[in-house]
Formats: sequence, structure tokens, C-alpha cells
Amino acid sequence: KTPFRIVTDDQLERLMVREKEFFHQRTKKSKETFQNAQGMLLNGVPMPWMGDWGTSHPIFVHCATGNRITDIDGNQYVDFCLGDTGAMFGHSPEATAKAVEKQSRQGITTMMPTEDALWVGQELGKRFGLPLWQVAMTATEANRYVIRMCRVLTGRPKVLCMNECYHGSLDETLPHIGPDGKLELRSSYDSNPGIPKDALTRVVEFNDIEALDRELAAGDVACVLAEPVMTNCGMVLPASGYLEALRELCTRYGVYLIIDETHTFSNGPGGYTAAYGLKPDFLTIGKSIAGGIPVAAYGFTREVGEKINRSFGRKGVSDPMGVGGTLSANAFAIAAMRATLQHVATEDAFARMFAGQERLSDGIEAALKKYSIPWSVTRSGARCELQFMPQLPRNGTEAKNHFDWQLIYYTHQYLVNRGILITPFHNMMLVPPVATAEDIDLLIQTWQECLRELVETAR
Ligand code: PMP
Repeated sequence: KTPFRIVTDDQLERLMVREKEFFHQRTKKSKETFQNAQGMLLNGVPMPWMGDWGTSHPIFVHCATGNRITDIDGNQYVDFCLGDTGAMFGHSPEATAKAVEKQSRQGITTMMPTEDALWVGQELGKRFGLPLWQVAMTATEANRYVIRMCRVLTGRPKVLCMNECYHGSLDETLPHIGPDGKLELRSSYDSNPGIPKDALTRVVEFNDIEALDRELAAGDVACVLAEPVMTNCGMVLPASGYLEALRELCTRYGVYLIIDETHTFSNGPGGYTAAYGLKPDFLTIGKSIAGGIPVAAYGFTREVGEKINRSFGRKGVSDPMGVGGTLSANAFAIAAMRATLQHVATEDAFARMFAGQERLSDGIEAALKKYSIPWSVTRSGARCELQFMPQLPRNGTEAKNHFDWQLIYYTHQYLVNRGILITPFHNMMLVPPVATAEDIDLLIQTWQECLRELVETAR
């Protein structure tokens, strides 16, 4: 629990009782549907995260377009979660919807390439600065394939990742540094008890160059997998010079650098990589590049491409390497990616997203100041994060130390009850190009009211 809480547990609990009651009144049909779903879906949802919003039952969706979601009770929500980035440019973008409608009648999957794949490969190369590309279904999968390749290319077993990172449900990146300095599995992912955690993984704190040097010097690391800004434990920005040092150390120790742009794509048409001139060996991206249709991609240098082919003694990297899948790069997904990159994820869209984020962050900061609340806002591209601490966190541990689930659940429930969604697992808000100034001001005002009441309750 953060020391900068303002209210006591009891005060917060009393407010929560009121908000829960309000939620039940507003979402009766969702509640009933959830109860019925217990009969055939584990815990009433088709995928665990859908039950993780912190509300007593999930909101069942009737439809979602642009930045609006309507639930089955008829409530409307302004969406700043956007499917945890899957719908970063808005729900069902027109161009993507049209392309998938057309392609769905011209063949969905054939295990043969379509010409759209060339356009997509070239476009990804132009945007992210890496020449060769492969397509997967999800970011998890893209990371898994790339890790596998790095192991083969280096003959080394381990992946180095950042404490409290998230890169998908990969055994390699689930461990984190426990209180005794040893690796342990994150409690919510305590799912592979038989696997020795340190056989697969080395973990360091983000922004800690010394630790990075020490761990890479051990000589058993195949690759570093990192987001350039951590976005899954609150948000943690790279300190000045850190990403350059990361590149330099990877080169020195012959370790491949994989930059995961799945979330940081929100920093520009070529992600954080193009915006800040990073030079990764591999880049992975998923979620929003096809407007929410399951597609991911991974790019790499020509040198890596040649090494991959040499390592396997033949062109292509299918069976021997365990890379690829039957439905990966299917015609439907590729058409969705082309339409999204061509017409939706444009320079203009990003400019609107950045301006929206600045408006939102300015507004939240002004509200914090107004009520003398010692919390901070981390800004990066189209997203920002309200953190329950005065200074910005420098690493995963600092961010996690100020996680306060009671406060997160309460504030999110408060927002939900007033028609606003933000990322459920922390306080991340993503601004899509379709958000209007009024939408953003509504979020600011709702936070402001929520904060005002917290401060008054504490008096
Ligand atoms: N990389 C990052 C940075 C992510 O945040 C996530 C999911 N939140 C993933 C990879 C995995 O994405 P998916 O669940 O779509 O495979």
C-alpha cells in the first residue's frame, strides 16, 4: 500500500460500498449474465483477464466503435483502455473493418502468402528501420519465436528481462526479483512450478546499468527482451543514456537486443524505436497493428536473417526451429494489417493522440495540484499513467511498491460508474485519435471529482 494514500482503509471501504451498490444498479443484466456464465465458463469469463477489472462482475459488451463501448444494460463508456492497447486507434476502425469484410469473402487462410504481405513487410521496414520481417498471431508468440531464434544463434540458454516486465505468457519473462533478491514467479502467474526459474532467466532492474553489465558478463544470456518504456507495472521511463548503454552492453557481450514495441508503438508511427533512434537486433510488435485483429510481427537485421538461414542449413525457419503456426500470416490478418498501417495508424493519427495525452496529463496534474495530492503523472507518447507517488518510478520495484489495489479498484470503479474505462491492472490511460477534447475533459473532471471526494473524506 502506498504511503501517499490520503484516505484510510475504512474510509475507502465506505466509499467503495456506495460505488458497488451504484454499479449493481447500473449493470443488472451484466450481473445476471455473469451468474449464468458460471455454468460453462471458468469463473464466468472466456479468458482470465476479462475477470480482472476489479469490479464484482465483468461488464458484458454489446458493441464497441471508435472510443465508445456500449454494454448489454445500455450504459455507454468512453474508452481509454482500448482493449489494453489492442484497439489503440479506436474500435473497428473504418478502413480495417472494410478490408476484413472484403478479405473474409476472398479466403481467410490458405497457408500461402498473399501480395499484401510484401506491402506490409516494406511498410514495417520503413517505419521501424529493420529490413526483414515475419508475421505471428500475437505479441506473446512473436516474443517466443524471437527468443527461440536468439538461443539457436548464440547457443546460450537465458533471456534477460527487466524486473516486473510483461511480454506475454512466456515462462522466460514471468520471474521477477523477490524480496530476498532471488528469482520467484509473479504470484498471479505462478503457473509453471516444475521449471527452475533461473535456468531460463536473468532479471535486472530497469535503468540499472551496473546490474545489466554484471548479468550479461556471466556469458549465458542469448538475448535481452525489453520495452523501451516499461508499461506493465505502472509506467517507467528510461533514464537519460540508459537505452544507449543497453545497446552498447548487448553488443559488447554478443547478446541480441529485442525491443518489444507492442505498447510503445503509441510513441509514433515507427514506435519508440524510430522516435528515439534505437538500434535493436530484433523488434517485436502485436496488438494494435491490425486494428485489433490478432496479428503480430517481428523484424530483424539482414545479418540476423543470414545467420538464421546458415544455422538451419536451409532457407526458412519452420519445423527445426519451432517457429510459425498454421494460421500465422493468414490472408485475413495480413489484409487487416495493411489497411490499418495504410489508413489508420497514420502520422496524423499519432499527432492527435500525442496532443490528447498532453491535454489529459496537464489536466490530471492540475487536479493533483489543486488538492495538494502528492502523486505524479508519467507521460509517454499517447499514454500516461497516474502513479500514487510523488516522484516518477525509476524501476519496476519502485513502481510496484506504490501499487495500491484498494485504491486502484476504488478509483476505477468510480470511473466506470461515471462511464469511463481505463486500463484495469494499473492507472494507464491511452488516448486514441478518435478521442475529442470533450472526452478527455470528461476524464479529467471525473478524476478531479474523485480526488476532491477522497481529500474531503480524509479531513
Ligand atoms: N508485450 C507487451 C509489452 C505487452 O504488454 C503484452 C501484453 N500486455 C504482450 C507483449 C503480449 O501480448 P499478447 O497478450 O497480445 O500476446
